Amino acid sequence: MLKLYNTLTRRLDEFTPMSHDRVTLYTCGPTVYDYLHVGNWAAYVYWDTLVRVLKFNGYEVERVMNITDVGHLVSDADDGEDKLEKGARRDGKTAWEIAEHYTEAFVRGMHEFGLVPPEHMVRATDFIPQQLALVRTLKEKGYTYQTSDGIYFDTSKFPRYADFAQLDLAAQKAGARVEANSEKRQPWDFALWKFTEPGKRRDMEWETPEDLLDSHGRETPGAASGVASAIMGFPGWHLECSTMAMELLGQTIDIHTGGIDHIPVHHTNEIAQSEAASGVQFARYWLHCNHLKIDGGKISKSLGNGYTMTHLKERGFTAMDLRMFILQSHYQSEGNFSFDILTAARNRLKNWRDTACLRHQVHDRLDDDTKRNDAPQYLSPQAAIGAMREALNNNLNTPEALSIIDESFSSISQRPLGAIYRAGLVELLQAIDDMLGLQLLDSTPDISDDAKQLLVERRRARDDKNWARSDELRDQLKAMGIIVRDTAHDTIWTYA
Ligand code: AMP
Ligand code: ZN
Repeated sequence: MLKLYNTLTRRLDEFTPMSHDRVTLYTCGPTVYDYLHVGNWAAYVYWDTLVRVLKFNGYEVERVMNITDVGHLVSDADDGEDKLEKGARRDGKTAWEIAEHYTEAFVRGMHEFGLVPPEHMVRATDFIPQQLALVRTLKEKGYTYQTSDGIYFDTSKFPRYADFAQLDLAAQKAGARVEANSEKRQPWDFALWKFTEPGKRRDMEWETPEDLLDSHGRETPGAASGVASAIMGFPGWHLECSTMAMELLGQTIDIHTGGIDHIPVHHTNEIAQSEAASGVQFARYWLHCNHLKIDGGKISKSLGNGYTMTHLKERGFTAMDLRMFILQSHYQSEGNFSFDILTAARNRLKNWRDTACLRHQVHDRLDDDTKRNDAPQYLSPQAAIGAMREALNNNLNTPEALSIIDESFSSISQRPLGAIYRAGLVELLQAIDDMLGLQLLDSTPDISDDAKQLLVERRRARDDKNWARSDELRDQLKAMGIIVRDTAHDTIWTYA
């Protein structure tokens, strides 16, 4: 039984999808104005683990992940610049070019992290007509009003607005900034569609359809001269997620994921506008990952600690090292990034790969069925798979799953090679790769026939007590990236 912590109910809920074998899932994707930092990657690794665990439980998953390429403003209060337009000025490019560049970088990164590609990866700018249609539905149902700078959602018409995030709106009102958008009816009302500032052009802007505009809201430019020109505009950030989720997955989806920063504004607004439009529940399970911090503080480019994969690679780390680091913490706990902990994670992954290499060095024989069953003191691969799945089914407890693997691997690697059940080891490695995406099998191919030949020669040299020759062969193998180690029973190789 799979249990997930549901922000909607604030408890651990048993997961049962709407359809018995299929799960619809929406993940809030990145805003593509810069490279992702380690904290952003943590979010996507956790949701990838969720997808893997759902699949391991036999569900077919249909997932949408959006690419925010327009409308995410620097401030949550619907003012400030669009992050894309700001990034474009920083890089001396257009917002379209910025979006393309950082989307490509994200997709490359997803591949390096081994993230399961979502069935739908969709850009906000590809869903403009659909977003406008949602604004139209909300307008027709009386949920919108127009100000001089856009079309807003009137949260007073949606009485459950504060429930999801347990917002204290009275306190929020008292603390609202005086200079904030004074035309809003409530400080927490949010823009569905913003108008391009009069007299300005944006890289990304679309015509606001006539029927969405109030006659009184704002003067139609050029009206006085008799040649009315269109009012240009762009969608608010929250609108894209509601639109793409409902367009592609239906009005009610099973699971919606995001970061804890999304709870009070972004997801609260998604729920309000989606449910106001559809009249039915938007998402049944809401999962939120906590943030990764550095020395207890925020990760941010301006503080110089927004490490990207480029920074990590410069220091010799791979995406898989970071993936291991991320999985060592539970998605709901506040993670702490340091290069020391990342180094420890890399060592752990190296140890696991060493165990994975053992599968090439053992050969099952006919009596293996007894070998599998006769060792109750070992956590058998089958038992380890079951325990790992149980840990992950308990609200994605990855730290617990990792310690089960540590225990199982240490019992396997302490055995003489002849006492290792190869098929069981391979099954366990496959299950780890399926659920945790650590690519243990792919990263540990068998060594070449030449290397194997050298190992045979070295064994002969040792049998002949020709230690000089044996050391020479060891060095030769080392030059090929293969380390040999002699135990009481066997000679074992691993990758350097
Ligand atoms: P953004 O590109 O800013 O929209 O963020 C992309 C994702 O990263 C969102 O789901 C955020 O919740 C998440 N995120 C941002 N900062 C962190 C962090 N320090 N730790 C974990 N997740 C984060
Ligand atoms: Zn979203």
